[in-house]
Amino acid sequence: MKDLPYAEPYKTKMVEYMRPSTIEERKQWIKEADYNLFNLSSDKVFIDLLTDSGTGAMSDKQWAEMMVGDESYAGSQSYLKLRDTVRRITGFQYFLPTHQGRAAENVLFSVLVNDGDIVPGNSHFDTTKGHIEFRKASVVDCTIDEAFNTTVFHPFKGNVNIEKLENSLKLNAGKVPFVIVTITCNSAGGQPVSMENIRAVSEVCKRRHIPLLIDAARFAENAYFIKMREEGYRNKSIKEIVKEFFSYTDGMTMSAKKDGLVNMGGFIALNNEEVYKKASVFSIMFEGFKTYGGLNGRDMGALAVGLDEATEFDYLHSRIGQVAYLGELLVKYGVPVQQPFGGHAIFLDANKFVLTIPRDEYRAQALAIELYIVGGIRSVEIGTILADRDPFTHKNRYPELELVRLAIPRRTYSLNHMRYVASVIRKIYDSRSQAKRGYRIIDEAPIMRHFTVKLEKIKT
Ligand SMILES: *Cc1c(COP(=O)(O)O)cnc(C)c1O
Repeated sequence: MKDLPYAEPYKTKMVEYMRPSTIEERKQWIKEADYNLFNLSSDKVFIDLLTDSGTGAMSDKQWAEMMVGDESYAGSQSYLKLRDTVRRITGFQYFLPTHQGRAAENVLFSVLVNDGDIVPGNSHFDTTKGHIEFRKASVVDCTIDEAFNTTVFHPFKGNVNIEKLENSLKLNAGKVPFVIVTITCNSAGGQPVSMENIRAVSEVCKRRHIPLLIDAARFAENAYFIKMREEGYRNKSIKEIVKEFFSYTDGMTMSAKKDGLVNMGGFIALNNEEVYKKASVFSIMFEGFKTYGGLNGRDMGALAVGLDEATEFDYLHSRIGQVAYLGELLVKYGVPVQQPFGGHAIFLDANKFVLTIPRDEYRAQALAIELYIVGGIRSVEIGTILADRDPFTHKNRYPELELVRLAIPRRTYSLNHMRYVASVIRKIYDSRSQAKRGYRIIDEAPIMRHFTVKLEKIKT
């Protein structure tokens, strides 16, 4: 079907109704939610782009697997199915299921991270950073500079700057338990890492005998970008690319709520038997027995099927094509968005969008609130609130980018929904100079404050 127009390789078997609401209702609801979009009940949201995590639709094959899930405490058949699938797809020998991605971090970092350690990588995901800082260690962001300019085109903005990495390893010799590379790089806008780059990172790590880990939540989407953008990979299958990528590394943590195409789940996969054994102890302490790790048997079965479906080209082409469709509409309307588009989300550049609101009044959050009030769209701030305070100085950390993320759930919304979202944003953009003041924090947690922060509107 090469010369035919492209269409999604699946159709709908069941529908879920969404509740429309009015602007007046939403103004009231968001105020009652302390201007934190995480506090809204989902029936008050029309299009939910808060996250692509665990919000996708499962296939009929996955639901079928739910029915034959083996709920044995130890040695469940669903566990074995998943273990074999993880081995086949990633190439890693050892495997521990966990209830989600941060649980994988918790279990593995309990083995690897100690007080005073330094963990370099590309921009670390917030739970990854949280689990490292919680252990009184810190992270060093070695992402290439191009990642922080939303208008520069670079095909692999998630790449690690090798010089920054070498410097950080030199400076912190003896204090680096591992390097972690996130694919795609969520905090830099869902941007991919190239095969060439992971090979270079791998060489640097090998020379210094430092393990290289992958935060692999969107590994399939990353492989799609390699296939489409990197020389020499156009004729390789997604599964071949995935296998090669992981072959340069020592292990991974996975949030299966992303490219696992399930609503809940995660795992650790790695080659080092000794680390696996130690991690198994923490798995039993935190997650349950090591053959279920906080998951139902049926969850593990659905995940095994999901990993196979997520690593098929046609699925990824429709998935990433839908995200790009929204991005292209916004570009057409002149809205400042991060380019090239990420795999799972479009990011509005709030520094260019809401110039009139001061940074210490959380301009990206102010824009996210506006999207909700005007269109019932739930998005998320990826800016100063997410960045948390510095653990030592307790001052706000102002990241280079103030973004609003529109994350697209997998296989869930239609292109019409994307058109609706783009129209709402266009309307806000056209009246953007009216917003002068933002918000102030009235309550916050010491880490990962964005989930529970309470805000109030600053009066003009
Ligand atoms: C979602 C995510 C995590 C954490 O996974 P959870 O399943 O939400 O606990 C870690 N890293 C990345 C890159 C993620 O996207």
